[in-house]
Order: sequence, then C-alpha cells, then structure tokens
Amino acid sequence: MIDVKECKTIWSNCLSVIRDMVGDQSFKTWFEPIVPLSLTDNILTIQVPSRFFYEWLEEHYVHVLKDAIHAELGPSARLEYAISTDGKTVENNKLYNISLQSGNKAGSKTSDSASKSHSDTREIGQFGFDVQLNNQYQFENFIEGDCNRLARSSGFAVAKKPGATSFNPLMLYSKVGLGKTHLVQAIGNYIKKNHEGKSILYVSSEKFANQFMEAVKNNSIRDFSNFFLKTDVLILDDVQFFANKEKTQEVFFHIFNDLHQSGKQIIMTSDKAPKDLAGFQERLLSRFKWGLTADLQAPDFETRVAIIQKKLETEQVEIPSDVLEYLAYSVDTNVREIEGVINTMIAQAALNQRHIDLELAKQTIQSIVQNVETEVGIDYIMKFVSEYFSVTIEQMKDKTRKREIVVARQVSMYFAKEYTNMSLKSIGSNFGNRDHSTVIHAIQSVNDLMDTDKKFNATMQDLMKKIKLKAI
Ligand code: ADP
Ligand code: MG
Repeated sequence: MIDVKECKTIWSNCLSVIRDMVGDQSFKTWFEPIVPLSLTDNILTIQVPSRFFYEWLEEHYVHVLKDAIHAELGPSARLEYAISTDGKTVENNKLYNISLQSGNKAGSKTSDSASKSHSDTREIGQFGFDVQLNNQYQFENFIEGDCNRLARSSGFAVAKKPGATSFNPLMLYSKVGLGKTHLVQAIGNYIKKNHEGKSILYVSSEKFANQFMEAVKNNSIRDFSNFFLKTDVLILDDVQFFANKEKTQEVFFHIFNDLHQSGKQIIMTSDKAPKDLAGFQERLLSRFKWGLTADLQAPDFETRVAIIQKKLETEQVEIPSDVLEYLAYSVDTNVREIEGVINTMIAQAALNQRHIDLELAKQTIQSIVQNVETEVGIDYIMKFVSEYFSVTIEQMKDKTRKREIVVARQVSMYFAKEYTNMSLKSIGSNFGNRDHSTVIHAIQSVNDLMDTDKKFNATMQDLMKKIKLKAI
C-alpha cells in the first residue's frame, strides 16, 4: 500500500518524461488535466475529464504512457482510468484499464470503448503481417466530391468484383491526408464483408520492405514470396517507399506478375503519379500503369463541409454553422488536419466546459495547423474570389475584358479596399499593374451594381459573410 503523496510524486515523475516526448501543446491539452488518484498493488489510477479524453489518450498516447509508467514502476505496473463526471466526483463503476503489456494496445478494455480504434487483426504466417483492416474506414463514411470521384468509383468497382475488372492494378495517388488509405481500406473491408473466403492482405510498403529485409537475412525469400502469392487481394499502401530499393522492387515485381497472371487483385497507393515516381525500375512503373490510375485532389469547399458534417455526426457533436463554415474555409488542403482541428476543439470544449464557438475554432486552428492564413490579405482575397467566380488569378491580372473576369477583378479590388489597409495604388499593382484610377472605377462599379442588381447584391452579401469569417 502506498499513500497518495507517493502517487503524486510518481505521477509527476512520469509527467516530466512525457513532457519531453509529446511537445508542449499536446502536453497541456492531454496531460496537465490528468489527476493522479491512487497507487495500489502497482496499479496507478488516474482521473481524466471525459470518456472522449480517455479514448484519445488510449488511441494516441498509450505508448508514451506505457514507457513513462514502466520507467517509474517497472514492467508489471498497470494503469487504470477513472472518468470524472462533473469535474469532481469519480464514477467508480467506470474504471477502464490498460494492461500496458508490450505491443498490446489496450488490455481489458470495456467492449463499447472498442468502437473507435479497432483494427481487426488476424495473424498470418511467420512474417508477422496482420490483416490490418480498420473498421473505421468504409465507403459509407468516405465523402465523395469532384476531387475524388474517379478514385472512389473505381475503388468501388474493384470492391464489387475484385480481380475481375480492367482496373488491375488499381493505383491511387495523392498528396498526404487526402484519403488514399481510407479508400483502399474501405475496399478491403467491403471485400471482406461481401466476398467470403477471399483472403485480403493490407500492408504498408514500409512493412513489406522491412519484412523482406528480414527474409533476406533469414534466407527465407521463397517463403516470403509464397506468403504473398496466397492472397486474393493485395493492398500495398504508399508504394513510393520502394524508391531506390532495388531488391525490394525486384521481389515485388515477381509477386506482382504472379498475382496478376492468376487474376488476383492488386491495389496500390502512392504519393505521386507513376510517371513522377523517381528511383523505380522502368518495368515496374510500366506495370503500375496497366490497370487504372486515379488521383485524389484536395476537396473543394462543399466537400470539406460534408466531411466535417460527417465527422461531427460520428462524434455526435453539434457546432454552429458559422463555425463549420469557418473551419471549411480555413483548413483547405488536408483532411487529416481538418479532423485534428475538430478533435482538439471537442476536447478543449469538454475540458474547459465551454461551447465550441468561432473563438475556440480560431485558436485551435492557429495552434495546430501550420501556415494557415488567418488574416485576410490580398492573396487570400484573390484566391477566394477567383474560386468563387471560377476564373484564374492570372486572368484577373491580365488584360481580358470578358464580362465574368472583369466582375471578378472588380470585386477583388473592392474587397481589397474594404478588408486590407492597402493603398489604391498598391491594390492596382496587384492586378497587372493597373493604376489607382482603375481601382476607384472598380469600386464605383461594384457599388453601382449592388444598388441596381438584386442578384449581384445577394452574391456580394454571401461573399462578404464568408470573407468576414476569415477576418474575425
Ligand atoms: P492519405 O492516406 O491519403 O494520407 P488518409 O486516408 O489517411 O490519407 O486520410 C486522412 C484522414 O482524412 C482519415 O482519417 C480519413 O478518414 C479522412 N478522409 C480523407 N478523405 C476523406 C473523405 N473524402 N471523406 C471522409 N474522410 C476522409
Ligand atoms: Mg495513407
């Protein structure tokens, strides 16, 4: 039996280890609010503010916690969570615990907490590959937009008839955080559910390469290849990782040929189009292009709104529509970042018992998204207006007098005057070196049109509302 004081000391030692491992922001958000409660029989019990908080820790920081606690209390130590309900009392019947056994995510988790991280794992063979299909990734929660339509629909076609379409291999590529892994996992999950008996293997290229190196060391390359040849559907994620790895490419080349010849489905992802992948054997690249190659682009505004809505629905959280729009406007390149912002906001709101409002949204974005423009500047205005009117920034800068381009140009100038401190002269210089009288004329025209044209006026009101969200 150890007293409370000792438990506090131990926890504070853990914290100093954790602080070095996770960085300031995460430490503040996820570790400072934790209250150490007791230490009995080498079980440390800590109190966390909410269920969500517990799940987040478990999903993202279990290894950090494990390392810190093992360092302090030895390998047999265990951790239990108590969830505080009203900020003070502990709901005693809601103790969760993590066994902290090596490699084990959560030991005796309660069953309903298993709904989130939740990979469905099956050991195969001696290579230690898991069929790492994560239930979270489904077609149902993948939002379709112009940005990903081809990738999604070809993925779905493959999921319905693996190996029996001309989309073999199916090669999806995009920048990071735009849904490649989600989509290929969704294909795997769909096949698993609808094609009983088909064996599916999802593997990251990194893992493939590492296991291959092991096989070389152990003289078991044959077994390694044979293992892959047994699958009906091979999903290889982030194949760019094979760049400059001659031997790995070689073995994959043979596996690819074999599977392809026997009508097995191959699905790959990469961060670049095959033609732009450097460090690859030509014969392998040419095979990547045999089937269908489809890219995923950054989602447009409407798609971002839909993604956010879906995510909120899943988390069962409601936020005001102006906050939703603000998020969708501000985080516009990476879906993973959008999710990060939402998760952090939910946590912050729960923690500080406040509502999710614009202020919180703005703080969160600033603290976790890099390079986000939170000020309205001329670049932002031009980008925003050009997207809205479907013209290019180049067109706004050059001499074109086509009606819709003139309108976009004049509206941009109007907003530049309205929302920045720029002089008329410097506004003009941003639009292909036009002079200040052109800017005055533009502003006048916009004012006139707003007075006379109801539809145009409504458009301007909508634009202003959206720009102002950015300017808060
Ligand atoms: P990538 O593999 O391209 O780096 P991920 O598939 O890991 O990207 O996507 C990052 C996160 O964004 C995941 O949590 C994923 O569920 C989510 N996501 C990406 N695109 C979409 C989409 N179109 N609809 C719903 N969620 C998406
Ligand atoms: Mg990925």
